[in-house]
Amino acid sequence: MCGIVGYIGKQQAYPIIIKGLHRLEYRGYDSAGVALLNGHLNIYKKKGKVSELEHFIAQKDNTGSVGIGHTRWATHGEPNDVNAHPHASYNQKIALIHNGIIENYAAIKTELLKKGYQFQSETDTEVLVHFIEEIRQNEQCSLEKALRLALTKIVGAYAIIVISEEEPRQLLAARKGSPLVIGIGTEAGEYFIASDATPIIEHTKNVVYLNDNEIAILGESGLHIKNLQNVETTPYIQTLDMALESIEKGGYDYFMLKEIYEQPNSIADAMRGRLIAKDNYVRLGGIHHYLPHLTNAKRIVIVACGTSWHAGLVAEYLIEELARIPVEVEYASEFRYRNPIIEKGDVVIAISQSGETADTLAAIELAKSRGAIIYGICNVVGSSIARATDEGAYIHAGPEIGVASTKAFTAQVTVLTMLALMLAQHRQTLTKEQFSFLLHELENIPQKVNKSLRLNDSVLEIAKIFKDARNFLYLGRGYNFPVALEGALKLKEISYIHAEGYPAAEMKHGPIALIDEEMPVVVIATRDSSYDKIISNIKEVKARRGKVIAVVTEGDVLIPEMVDYVIEIPQTHEALIPLLAVVPLQLLAYHVAILRGCDVDQPRNLAKSVTVE
Ligand code: GLU
Repeated sequence: MCGIVGYIGKQQAYPIIIKGLHRLEYRGYDSAGVALLNGHLNIYKKKGKVSELEHFIAQKDNTGSVGIGHTRWATHGEPNDVNAHPHASYNQKIALIHNGIIENYAAIKTELLKKGYQFQSETDTEVLVHFIEEIRQNEQCSLEKALRLALTKIVGAYAIIVISEEEPRQLLAARKGSPLVIGIGTEAGEYFIASDATPIIEHTKNVVYLNDNEIAILGESGLHIKNLQNVETTPYIQTLDMALESIEKGGYDYFMLKEIYEQPNSIADAMRGRLIAKDNYVRLGGIHHYLPHLTNAKRIVIVACGTSWHAGLVAEYLIEELARIPVEVEYASEFRYRNPIIEKGDVVIAISQSGETADTLAAIELAKSRGAIIYGICNVVGSSIARATDEGAYIHAGPEIGVASTKAFTAQVTVLTMLALMLAQHRQTLTKEQFSFLLHELENIPQKVNKSLRLNDSVLEIAKIFKDARNFLYLGRGYNFPVALEGALKLKEISYIHAEGYPAAEMKHGPIALIDEEMPVVVIATRDSSYDKIISNIKEVKARRGKVIAVVTEGDVLIPEMVDYVIEIPQTHEALIPLLAVVPLQLLAYHVAILRGCDVDQPRNLAKSVTVE
């Protein structure tokens, strides 16, 4: 969950590391720390955000051309100075940073306690650093060997970087289940390493993605990658396809707002080269070899978490309606632990923005072990899920830094819509006219999203009215039900107001009891096949004096008469409405959160990519 970064070379490590930590802060931000080597080890750690650490270090010795840094999202032990990483061996010779969870830490800790080791922190990570030092001393061996031996005994997930005062011209790194990217510097012996490419991009475009169960040795003797059996492999060097501007705020106050506004472009990017309406052409290049499996699938299971799960729900409606294949959408965390019925040849689609979501990865492994064909829908190129799946499609949304997902959701839905259309074409479940109409409508979505963004000022006015509400209800039917869920999730995540999304008709079976004149109810009531039904639901809310904020299709004259506030979005085919309807809901959550003084990019307790289960 956290962000880790390391540097070895001739430059001063600290400025590179602190800047890298700022870039990785979206991954965790409850505490941060750095360790620098300059003859001896200096370790600085601080509870709070990276800027607090930076302030703390300003007057301290921060020299050294080897260093590591960590921004934490606590799993074991509360966020405080002591539990912050790096953790050091008892003799202060070794420092280690870790992203993940050491699941068998308690057993190892018990053994180390018997041997007289003392622990400063409550973390699982500290156990690992003592364990490595214990092996190093027992075996009288190098740090590399001690690390390797330790890792063969570790159960759990990790990306780690280790440095040692006694072997100061090397960085050691290893991964299992948590990502690590190595950047190859321009000078011999210069390397960067981080949880993702954002701290690396301004220094080099040549990178190597470390694989699970690999150890990297970086330093004067070059870059060496070995497996846990000490067999060396040849690093596969790739060129990063990412622009520096894409990871900066570009004049916006928050990444979230920038990313909301990027959606006309990110949706267009998701379609680029894949959809040409005038030629009736739609094709996801990454889904090719196994396309017949998908086309002939008896059913499709979608696994995902959070916002990606909402995108999966939209896909259920799309694929069932357009391509007539039964679809089930599962929370990856439930799927992996409930002995699901998956048989050889079944099709599973895994959706994850980061491509590192631990539960989704585990669900993939489970489905694979039972013979399923797995497709991945990810944003981050080269991510673990992208590599673990048989085939897949990137959503090409560009880096998403705001913790609350916005542009990744719409890009996921765009790609899933193209997938449904591809399947419909192969299965001949739509008429030529229907197919062509949908292609044209989808092609026009970016400009309609642009129009939806012009609602910003009116949404801000609504946000001012409801910023102090204690609860919100979001209702939708059909394609708009997942949008209601997503709207509620956005509000919860960043404004800390309790919100629930519901299928509008289900309201009668419970939530209606909550409605009174204090309760804002956001109803997505666009002109679609449920229009008349949703009008009845609005009436039910109004009869109990709820305050209704309705998202309607532009030109609607009926609903504005019945509700308190209206947000008009452009007209489109009902299967594509989620791409437009979600935009004002993202803006509403954003403005409410800002008005309440919340940090929308780094909401409390959350982290961007959930690499722990
Ligand atoms: N499990 C470790 C801790 O709680 C690392 C968590 C993280 O990935 O930030 O400190």
